[in-house]
Amino acid sequence: MEENKLAGIIKETTETKLGTLEWKKSPNPHIHLKDSSANSPCATQCKDKTCVTVCPAKVYEWHGEKNSIVVNYENCIECGGCRMLCPFDNIVCDWPEGGMGVKYKYG
Ligand code: SF4
Ligand code: SF4
Repeated sequence: MEENKLAGIIKETTETKLGTLEWKKSPNPHIHLKDSSANSPCATQCKDKTCVTVCPAKVYEWHGEKNSIVVNYENCIECGGCRMLCPFDNIVCDWPEGGMGVKYKYG
């Protein structure tokens, strides 16, 4: 299968599945960057911006004009991937407070 076609199917499948989830937005972010300054590893060392590419819920956005990462924590599906894969250990990702965040349906 062509790479572009496969990428299209994966994208469509992920977005379709994300569309079946429900969230309850917490007023308190459960994710933040340890260092979001102009000297942070995001701004000065991290070429690949792994968080932007690995997060299935598009929580992280690189804003080149501001030289910083924006964290849309309310979209998080709590998979834990970003915290494991940040090459500079710059992400704090806990659980949303009780009853908040994503709601999974089973059955
Ligand atoms: S992967 Fe880590 S260091 Fe790189 S941009 Fe994201 S938070 Fe910053
Ligand atoms: S825990 Fe998963 S869904 Fe949440 S921000 Fe990290 S990679 Fe994205």
